Amino acid sequence: MWINGAEVSSAGRDTLAVVNPATEEQIGSVVRGTPADAEAAARAAADAFPRWRRSAPAIRAALLREIADRLAAHRAELADLLVAEQGKPRRDNESEIDSAIELFTYYSGFAWRDRGAVNPAEDKVLDFVLREPVGPVACIVPWNFPIMLMARKVAPALAAGCTVVVKPSEETPLATLLFARVVADHLPPGVLNVVTGYGSEVGEPLVHDPRIRHIAFTGSTATGRRIASSAAAAMKGTTLELGGKDPLIIGPDADLETAVPAVAFAGLLNAGQCCTSTERIYVAQPLLKDFLEALVDHVRGIDVGDGARAGTVMGPLIREDARRRVGEHVTEAVAAGAKVLTGGGVPPGLDRGWFYEPTVVVDVPDSARLLREETFGPVLPVAGFASVDEAIARANDTAYGLGATVLSNDPGFVKRCIDGLDVGNVFVNDPLTAATATTFGGTKMSGMGRELGVEGFEAFRESKHVHWMFTR
Ligand code: NAD
Repeated sequence: MWINGAEVSSAGRDTLAVVNPATEEQIGSVVRGTPADAEAAARAAADAFPRWRRSAPAIRAALLREIADRLAAHRAELADLLVAEQGKPRRDNESEIDSAIELFTYYSGFAWRDRGAVNPAEDKVLDFVLREPVGPVACIVPWNFPIMLMARKVAPALAAGCTVVVKPSEETPLATLLFARVVADHLPPGVLNVVTGYGSEVGEPLVHDPRIRHIAFTGSTATGRRIASSAAAAMKGTTLELGGKDPLIIGPDADLETAVPAVAFAGLLNAGQCCTSTERIYVAQPLLKDFLEALVDHVRGIDVGDGARAGTVMGPLIREDARRRVGEHVTEAVAAGAKVLTGGGVPPGLDRGWFYEPTVVVDVPDSARLLREETFGPVLPVAGFASVDEAIARANDTAYGLGATVLSNDPGFVKRCIDGLDVGNVFVNDPLTAATATTFGGTKMSGMGRELGVEGFEAFRESKHVHWMFTR
């Protein structure tokens, strides 16, 4: 843990083991934080806030650029730690660090952003709105992209003049602690704090702490809902990036040579553990047979294994219970009439580690959990559709609304999908894209608020209206 610029020693403290999901071996341990640690971190962030918010934009901008440089200097070390604690292949972790570097670079410029607007008013009146940092914020992060999702919050928050307390996932705290160590001597004490431990023991106290004025959260819908109700009771702002059940629609004109690898990428990156992983695939009926043949062929060739091994394309799931959930979704669907075309179990020879085969399933009833709940695993359920209206209706038949992918170059088809899909992000011919300068977030049970781009920065500011009459 890092509180007020100093590392909190684990000597004499309860600790949490960090386990490599590819080997089941313990690779480290971190302090099991308590509510008192969360309180100390919130206090440090609150004490540092008055000076940080008034620091010159040039200073904040330079500090953020320096963080980007230090991330770049430690890219290999951070990627190795992510491979070991998170499990995805090394090059995917390098891309994650690159995204974080880009985020700190991009948001460094936002330290210079205008502070508000002057409004039209009668003579002798100056009426204006100041955009001010909301205050100390809690950044609560899941395990699937620990550094990138932390950077999406911390970079804009620091640029806006907020101080932060980061709460990494209990599964993946090591890379975040290395990040804190790498930047610690460079930021004023208390500006960036990291508390490790369970959500119930440090996350929840942070949400309730009166000094914390905004909660930027990425994680499951269940936790997000809990945070939203606590935050509402205390009139705090939230940014909630939650779960998804993303559809992918393959139009009648699609080219299967590009569609098949695109679907495999969209559904299997990080073993299907991305918030915008494709979890339902709808294919124009005339293409269905050929598509399935090519997809099964492609998926059978995917190299599954330890992310540390060169050549691995897909790593393990994060935990044993995650693999159990994926298996249950598939088994239940099969019991209800679905057919597994490939996969559906533990890959041969990979009994150690929480691996699951890349899997293609058809004939899944719409009521199955595999089509209704977030599976968060490497499973591709495929179905045909007869019309664009049917594709859109089935895509929208979910409680979630995070992303959707459309593979087509028919402008009419694509336009109908863009207009009809009830999601926060539509990816046309390029799945799983989240561009730093755009906006990202979900509708329905996938969350509230937006990260990235200008919206992701303004989430950390609020307006103060000033009406000033000159009486002399
Ligand atoms: P999770 O909700 O279990 O945990 C996320 C974080 O919240 C962890 O740091 C955890 O310790 C903390 N937490 C747990 N209970 C808490 C509480 N009561 N109060 C405060 N903090 C608490 O989620 P996870 O399993 O780590 O992550 C997977 C989920 O994240 C999936 O549902 C996935 O779709 C979602 N996700 C969403 C996005 C997005 O941008 N929409 C991105 C990545 C992941």
